[in-house]
Amino acid sequence: MLKIESLNVFYGHVHALKDITMEISQGELVALLGANGAGKTTTLMTISAILKPKSGQITYEGLDLTHESSRQIVQRGIVQCPEGRRIFGGLTVSENLLMGAMRRSDRVNLAADLDRVLEIFPVLGKRRNQSGSTLSGGEQQMLAIGRALMATPRILMLDEPSLGLAPRVIDDIFKVIRTLHQQGVTILLVEQNVRLALEIADRCYVLETGRVVMQGTGAELKANPKIENIYLGGSA
Ligand code: ATP
Repeated sequence: MLKIESLNVFYGHVHALKDITMEISQGELVALLGANGAGKTTTLMTISAILKPKSGQITYEGLDLTHESSRQIVQRGIVQCPEGRRIFGGLTVSENLLMGAMRRSDRVNLAADLDRVLEIFPVLGKRRNQSGSTLSGGEQQMLAIGRALMATPRILMLDEPSLGLAPRVIDDIFKVIRTLHQQGVTILLVEQNVRLALEIADRCYVLETGRVVMQGTGAELKANPKIENIYLGGSA
C-alpha cells in the first residue's frame, strides 16, 4: 500500500534519514521503533510531506507521492496524529474534532463520523463543549486520535501515543489502536514503549541514527537478544 524507497532527508547538514526503505501492506499495523533521535518522527513528517526528501521515493498504491503537498497527502487518506497531541487548546472538543475533517471533500458523513469517534472515546462526548486545554493528558491524546479519525484515514500514522501517560491510560489508548486495526485501518505506529509496540504490531522496523537496522514480526524481534538488551532492559 505504502512504499518508501531509499529515502534521504536532511535538516541543513544533519543527515536524519539514510536510505530508509520500508513498506506497509493494506490492513497492517507496522511499528517504527528506535531511541530518541533515531529518525522516527522525521519519517512520518516526510510521508506527510511536511519535510521534503533530498532523494528517494514514496509511493502509495503505485502512485508517486514524493512531490505532493501535505494537503494532497491528507486528502489521499494518509493522516498523521502528531507527537505531543498538538490539539487546539482554545477550541472546544467538538471544534477540535471538526478541524480533523477540514480537508475532506465528502462532508455528507460528517455527523455520522463524529458520532463514531464519540462512541470510540465516550469521554470526549461528555466533554464536547469543554475547551481542549482543560482536558487531561490522556483525554488530549484521545482527542488527537479522534481528530485524525475525522479525516477518514486509510493509513493512520500515530507518533508516540503513549508519551507521558499513566499506565492505565496507555492501556485504554492501545485498546483503541487494536480495535482500529481490527476494523481494517492500516496503521504506522511510532512508539518508544517497545514492549507494547512488539505486542501489538504485525511487523516492526528498528531505526538507529537514521538507518533501518532491523525488521521483522513482533515475535521475531522479541526473540532477538539485541532488542531484549537494548530496548527491553534484559540481560540476554
Ligand atoms: P524522538 O523520539 O526523540 O522524537 P525520533 O526518532 O523521532 O526521536 P527525529 O525527531 O526524527 O527522531 O530526529 C532525527 C534526527 O534529526 C535527530 O538527530 C534530531 O536531532 C534531528 N532533528 C530533528 N528535527 C530537527 C530540526 N528541526 N533541525 C535539526 N535537526 C533536527
